Amino acid sequence: MNSKKYIFFTGGVVSSLGKGISISSLAFLLQSRGYAVTILKLDPYINVDPGTMSPYQHGEVYVTDDGAETDLDLGHYERFLNVSMARINNATSGQIYYEVLKKERRGDYLGATVQVIPHITDAINEKIKKAGEVSGVDIVLVEIGGTVGDIESLPFLEAIRQFRLTLKPEDTFVAHLTLVPFIAGANELKTKPTQHSVQRLREIGLQPDALLCRTDRPLPDNVKQKIGLFCNVSASAVIDALDVKTIYEVPLQYADLGFDQLVLDKLRLKKRTLDIGKWRAKIERYKRIETEITIAICGKYVELQDAYKSIIAAFTHSGMENDVRVKLKCVNTETLTEKNIRTELAEASGILVPGGFGDRGIDGKLLAVRYARENKVPFFGICLGLQCAVIEFSRNVVGIEGANSTEFDKHTQDPVIHLMETQKSVKVLGGTMRLGSYPCNLKEGTIAAAAYKESLINERHRHRFEVNNAYRTRLEEAGMCISGLSPDGELVEVIELKDHPWFVGCQFHPELKSRVSKAHPLFRNFVAASKTQHDR
Ligand code: GLN
Repeated sequence: MNSKKYIFFTGGVVSSLGKGISISSLAFLLQSRGYAVTILKLDPYINVDPGTMSPYQHGEVYVTDDGAETDLDLGHYERFLNVSMARINNATSGQIYYEVLKKERRGDYLGATVQVIPHITDAINEKIKKAGEVSGVDIVLVEIGGTVGDIESLPFLEAIRQFRLTLKPEDTFVAHLTLVPFIAGANELKTKPTQHSVQRLREIGLQPDALLCRTDRPLPDNVKQKIGLFCNVSASAVIDALDVKTIYEVPLQYADLGFDQLVLDKLRLKKRTLDIGKWRAKIERYKRIETEITIAICGKYVELQDAYKSIIAAFTHSGMENDVRVKLKCVNTETLTEKNIRTELAEASGILVPGGFGDRGIDGKLLAVRYARENKVPFFGICLGLQCAVIEFSRNVVGIEGANSTEFDKHTQDPVIHLMETQKSVKVLGGTMRLGSYPCNLKEGTIAAAAYKESLINERHRHRFEVNNAYRTRLEEAGMCISGLSPDGELVEVIELKDHPWFVGCQFHPELKSRVSKAHPLFRNFVAASKTQHDR
């Protein structure tokens, strides 16, 4: 292999065109041709990380093994590529400015005027270099968040322009993801937004090598030629990225359109054999599945698409392995009551209470747990979901009426869930929770051990509260099984119930480690149990 190759992805016209999926799909194809790839996401916002942002604003926070709170696109990267991302795979403007300002305060730039160019742009380029320094990586793909034309993304685009000056032309590729809308009134596909967004890119000094045009119908040749002419790319590099049924079809679509070959040609890389037969078979089979089951996600984020991104993905992967389509029903626990719970959960063959923060919607979550426990509906509680399961069990089975978490009632008499010892001294928000991958021992003969088929697992965490060890004996005596513990035995990581078809709560976030190639074992078995429930 010659020098390292860099592929940059920018976006134009509107957001939400699926840049993360697009870059993951190309990376997957290159990986399937035997190249070692990595992806870096550059986010233009000023927050130092997305950890303190509301899921309404920014979707879920994706936690890596090394404990970074990152953008949800890293989830796509991991799911498509089946590799683990790390802190070095995501950087925000806020992080970059923060680092530069810290250096300035230390006096590292003494004498110099600290400026966007070169100080910020140099710091951005350092991030790009760092991402590529992982041993063995052949191709570094860089996704620039936001849309060309945004004031915020300018330093990133300028940095890339400079970065490319240090590379040979055959070592770099720019792909621009854009929208070609069909205007019904004119009965026409419109190319103008694409022309304008590429103009903006070229003003900055970036000439795209390919245009990925999101469109709801194929682009006729004359439209491709027109786009090519105005945007200074060959018509063969104007690719019509049609809407597809599932995001996992995108790599297949790109392969059929020869997008990866176009990239390899420009980068002068050998077209090694593309090995995507397994993926194709899996997706084709999934598309043919007719059996559908409903699983209720009982949480507070009603528009669940982005806030529960990895959970939704884990259900898709688990559906693939159980030959079933999982329809997710989002139940808003703020309005869930004893009166409406039966109707709200009537069609649910499984109930999931996801992670969350704060006491909004908690009563509804506790009702959902109770419903699942009493009616023997498969139940899966994640992080806050485990904590709710423990509170509900303490109140209604153990008989500790006032059992609560100190997150919801600081002065509760019976804090069955309380702040972790290590969190007591924490004063600032932002990167201070128990974050990242930790080992956990599973107890033999439990539902958890049966799912993992292993006794020592590693899972990712993001929490401040934990099960209070002072209540462990009472919980166990009343029939709760503590099936997963931290190796020192101090932290309860998994709980489950006997005499129930499938009732599991975990303190970690298993959804972060589910992959297309291998569904997460807990999700897979939860879906299997829900399918059995559906067939009963
Ligand atoms: N709020 C809870 C805690 O901090 C749960 C966090 C979560 O669900 N990620 O422990």
